Amino acid sequence: MGELVIRPNFEEKLECPRCSAEKETLFHVLEDCPIARAILFIGGLDNSLITKDYHCCIDWLEDVIRVLNKRATTNLMITLWNSWNNRNNFIFRGKEEEAHVVWERGRTLSKDFRIFSLINDPLLPANPAVKRWEKHPRGYVKINFDASVSNNRTGFGVIARDDEGFVIDGGEGLKNEMILAELAEIYTFEESIKMVCALNIKTIVVFETDNASLVNRVKHHSTDVTIFGARVVPSFGFFASASVAS
Ligand SMILES: [Zn+2]
Repeated sequence: MGELVIRPNFEEKLECPRCSAEKETLFHVLEDCPIARAILFIGGLDNSLITKDYHCCIDWLEDVIRVLNKRATTNLMITLWNSWNNRNNFIFRGKEEEAHVVWERGRTLSKDFRIFSLINDPLLPANPAVKRWEKHPRGYVKINFDASVSNNRTGFGVIARDDEGFVIDGGEGLKNEMILAELAEIYTFEESIKMVCALNIKTIVVFETDNASLVNRVKHHSTDVTIFGARVVPSFGFFASASVAS
């Protein structure tokens, strides 16, 4: 039995939209598709690690990680992440970049973010606080939203996924004005609420953001009297009942 195709719920077609291979499995996307191979080849991954056929992507990764050191594994993961994004750009935006551009982007990211890659043991032990993970109820819809402000522009993105992680809908936008980062998060939060309303989702909706300040404002929306707080209140009014988890 082979690996599942990636988009069983998304559309009828199972084949790879980029090369028309019979099934677009995760292994196919990351290793077997010609452009994925080209990216790995440019990245310098040994040919013997690229050519063998695997049923499951994780088996391939396991074999590769057995022969790569930590630094090479980190670089491989960054390369695969960029390769995956390149595939998604093709699926959702109809454009993809050439292999060398994808590789170059991964390399820049690797250099810029070297401080964050877990190549060496951290100087200080990691925060020992245990984070409790709460399982979400079955059938929920999760909304991820994020905003970024740079070069006098504000970009935002919203993605809705079902409980198996498949993308149901998504949106992105660009405002040609620079607004405060926190206001941008609230703006994006409003956009995600609009999307939930438009999708007419009848199940539990989980909003996810990495902006702790926004989470706190939503939690304390009845007592927060700042401008940002006032902006959150009408957003929150969309829901008859809601609870916020951080
Ligand atoms: Zn393909």
